Amino acid sequence: MIQQTLSIIKPDAVARSLQGEILAMIQKSGLRIVAMKMIRLTRAQAEAFYEVHKDRPFYADLVEYMTSGPVVCSVLEGENAIAAYRTLMGATNPANAAEGTIRRLYAESVQANAVHGSDAPETAAREVAFFFSRTEIAG
Ligand code: ADP
Ligand code: MG
Repeated sequence: MIQQTLSIIKPDAVARSLQGEILAMIQKSGLRIVAMKMIRLTRAQAEAFYEVHKDRPFYADLVEYMTSGPVVCSVLEGENAIAAYRTLMGATNPANAAEGTIRRLYAESVQANAVHGSDAPETAAREVAFFFSRTEIAG
């Protein structure tokens, strides 16, 4: 099934100029980048984006970190794109991420873990619409 999913290259990775390498890994995996923008999240945006985690102990730090610098948001499209990108990203904690995954290669910690990817069709639809209007999805 062809799906779309939301990717965010997080502030730690953008700060280390890893956008190009991470986007190359995405493209080499066969996923197509059909929309992309670099933005700096406001506090309100970061709080809303991660609302599902608002009761977790790491929420305040997560919002702080996600607003600490620019991020690169993109919409990826391909066969089973949601699971395919989660596999390419690797586990949330880089210590548990498989060899060759983005997080294994580039994450600094469980918080500063380089990338975000949607985890299910409903969240992908919500997260794509959070950052992109229909007319911005050009690919
Ligand atoms: P994922 O990004 O793999 O879907 P979650 O949705 O569980 O992971 O968490 C969202 C983000 O919150 C993570 O990517 C990471 O940046 C941060 N995070 C998750 N768990 C922790 C934790 N135990 N300590 C600090 N930050 C965390
Ligand atoms: Mg998640």
